[in-house]
Amino acid sequence: MGRRGFTTRQVHERGRAGASSPRATPIYLTAGFSFDEYGDAASHFGAGEGYAYTRIGNPTIDAVEGALAALEGGSQALLLASGQAATSVALLSLAAAGDHIVVSNHIYEGSRGLILDNLSRFGIEADFVDDIGDPAAWEAAIRPETKALFAESISNATNRILDIAAVSAVGRRHGIPLVVDNTFATPYLLRPIEHGADVVVHSASKFLSGQGTVIGGAIVDSGRFDAARSGAKFPHLVAPGRGGTASLVERTGGDARIAYARESVAPRLGPTPSPLNAFFIGQGIETLSLRVDRQSANALAVATWLATHPAVASVDYAGLPSHPDHALASELLPDGYGSVFTFTVAGDAGDARRVVEALDVFTHMTHLGDVRSLVLHPASTSHTHLTEAERLALGVFPGTLRLSIGIEDVDDLIDDLGRALAAGAASVAPAVARAEVSA
Ligand SMILES: *Cc1c(COP(=O)(O)O)cnc(C)c1O
Repeated sequence: MGRRGFTTRQVHERGRAGASSPRATPIYLTAGFSFDEYGDAASHFGAGEGYAYTRIGNPTIDAVEGALAALEGGSQALLLASGQAATSVALLSLAAAGDHIVVSNHIYEGSRGLILDNLSRFGIEADFVDDIGDPAAWEAAIRPETKALFAESISNATNRILDIAAVSAVGRRHGIPLVVDNTFATPYLLRPIEHGADVVVHSASKFLSGQGTVIGGAIVDSGRFDAARSGAKFPHLVAPGRGGTASLVERTGGDARIAYARESVAPRLGPTPSPLNAFFIGQGIETLSLRVDRQSANALAVATWLATHPAVASVDYAGLPSHPDHALASELLPDGYGSVFTFTVAGDAGDARRVVEALDVFTHMTHLGDVRSLVLHPASTSHTHLTEAERLALGVFPGTLRLSIGIEDVDDLIDDLGRALAAGAASVAPAVARAEVSA
């Protein structure tokens, strides 16, 4: 064979990787994989063997999925391009046009938008449960066509804690899976599947990656799909495949739900994560417990300090004994209460604004779970599309600020808040002073 052209060589010539295995997960930043033997192509398309195309499977993505499944105590995980993609794929793997889901009213506003604006257009209806601590409220919302219960383990803005055992028991009685968004807790603090949840979703953009570098999401399934009990509700999991091939349950048993998500929903709708982003998420997971330990301890110290500050009207943190879900939180979250919570400045939106503008260590941005501490004014940002009455019902007041506490030295966070509250509370200070005098 003669010497090939420069252009041919520039895309084909590569040194071979050495024999020893890389200790860190290599980044397989490739759209696809060559079929080394002719028959590999047919066995990939026929039986799903081997790697062919990154939208279907990729070793870097697989490695992270394995880590997440193991840490959540699930059977399998599916990594996706964002947390929104995880929620979308999880719910679309369960419900179709004509179906119904029951949803906690205390959820991420992006999830609310997905359910109200998008799933509704696919013919999937939803009812919202406000008193999420009451299993009877969940049960009352269930209809014959209900296909999923959906809630967050720890929620924004009021830090409500989900009684996973109680709500999943309601679902089990009706053969309906409980899907838990575990973004705020992370598998280090809470593993919903151990408490009876069937499916867990995550925004990996938050604590899992941990340093604010990438957008990503994940679904983890318990692997406990029970065809005898729930098969009639989920015909797409038990019916033969196109062309009379074996059903998902026949092929994958209790993993039928996530197999459907992996084979039929994610690759068709297409929210594939980049292998590079998968690498960052995998890298983040390696320090998850260390970060979340420190963030939770810092958050408890900051929340405790804020609760006694005269310019603070209230603090919604489940780690404080004053929180209505504190007992449940202490039972479910023995290693820490998480690090995202809100507090409300005594005063109005203008006072909250002055606090944000005076903060220096905290970054003003819409994100959470970063190693750096972050602050946001929900009423004018994440919750701006709700009515005033809806905001108040969710605990979002004009003076409410959301904090995501980072790993900084906690004294620096408290000093920063102390300075900012002094600046922000200028207009309410006389009232506070009067209250102190009369007390
Ligand atoms: C951020 C977030 C999402 C959405 O995740 P993205 O990665 O931003 O798409 C979903 N649920 C919760 C609780 C979140 O905080």
